[in-house]
Amino acid sequence: MSTIPADIADLLTREDNFLVAAHFNPDGDAIGATAALGFILSALGKQFQLYNATGIPPQFVWMALPGPLVTELPPADSISWIITLDSGDADRLGADLKALLPKKQSINIDHHLGNPEYGTLNWVDTTASSTGEMISRLADALGLALRGSLAEAIYTAMVTDTGGFRFSNTRPETMELAARMIRAGLNPGLVNAKIDNQWTMARIKLWSEVMSNVAMYSDGRIGVIRLPVDIFDRTGATRADCDGLINNVMRIRGVRVAMSLREDTDYIKFSLRSVGDVNVRDVAASFGGGGHKNAAGGQIVSDLETAQAQLLEAVEPIATDGV
Ligand code: 5GP
Ligand code: MN
Repeated sequence: MSTIPADIADLLTREDNFLVAAHFNPDGDAIGATAALGFILSALGKQFQLYNATGIPPQFVWMALPGPLVTELPPADSISWIITLDSGDADRLGADLKALLPKKQSINIDHHLGNPEYGTLNWVDTTASSTGEMISRLADALGLALRGSLAEAIYTAMVTDTGGFRFSNTRPETMELAARMIRAGLNPGLVNAKIDNQWTMARIKLWSEVMSNVAMYSDGRIGVIRLPVDIFDRTGATRADCDGLINNVMRIRGVRVAMSLREDTDYIKFSLRSVGDVNVRDVAASFGGGGHKNAAGGQIVSDLETAQAQLLEAVEPIATDGV
């Protein structure tokens, strides 16, 4: 049973002592939604703590936060409610928070298809562009103006999850919300510059090397990039520097599915992208991952070669379907 935003807004006014958390390795939506909900709780005069298992990635350190964001869980007795954001399953919250979740009351706010509704209360809206867009509805229900740092956080969540209002998850409501915030004083040029202009030379080295080694399969319908574990030492780049890399593979004319494989110590993190009716979520889900129709990912416990072969086999039918 899905909870409606008005009920969650009501709960926020009645209850206190919230832990606000999003998925680890947070993207702009995860960090933006965390910050935005924190600003709402702050405006309501509530006690709250912000948590993320892997903290704030360097490209988002500029974002204004309503309080410190910790990477160690605070004492359990300081928390009455856990609010999880943008996390398609409980594993993505990290092992510590996943273990605490069943012992507490929780609200799961998310927009991922196939979210198993792991919260005590669940508000999962798969039509929302971003979790940040959902948080704006809580602010509206509470009569809080979408201005200043709250608006910047929501806008960052929307811009990053829609690829700059270009992906299919960009709804009229998304554009209307952006327009409202711009009308209320948000400067999109300044916020987008903060979001975009974060590249390091290490990132450029990583992107150059990876893109010059892109491999094509199925007559150019599948493009694959690989990030062996040593590439990070060689270039000085971080895991977060891989964000967005896969979108460049989709840019190659004729590519219907883009795949990236990143080697970690004991697993391969994979990402899949597609356009239109080519559904990569089901492929990701068949390997225990998830996501959206055109953007999905997951982890496979094996080596690069095996993971690539398994994924290619699963992706080939959908990349060639209807051709
Ligand atoms: P990315 O490839 O950028 O990491 O993720 C693309 C989409 O797939 C995101 O919506 C993300 O939430 C989802 N996703 C990525 N990895 C996983 C995973 O391991 N499990 C689940 N359930 N979803 C994932
Ligand atoms: Mn999201």
